[in-house]
Amino acid sequence: PYTIAEPCIDIKDRACIDVCPVDCIYEGGRSLYIHPDECVDCGACEPVCPVEAIYFDADLPDEYEKYGADNREFFTGV
Ligand code: SF4
Repeated sequence: PYTIAEPCIDIKDRACIDVCPVDCIYEGGRSLYIHPDECVDCGACEPVCPVEAIYFDADLPDEYEKYGADNREFFTGV
């Protein structure tokens, strides 16, 4: 799935929410999160993010690696 990383924190632009065809991007306290089991890997959200916070999980830069787990944790709590 795609995942939302650190640049989204306290930004939450929401452009991605508008383009996601399956409505799998949800708003949390300080960031938006992509539901990893609902994301269909369409890639529509990645280019519209003004702060480049969205990455395909396999392409996450090393410094954002933990955000893959973070996005899942937001929904599962583990
Ligand atoms: Fe939604 Fe597509 Fe982005 Fe997945 S890749 S979060 S389905 S817009």
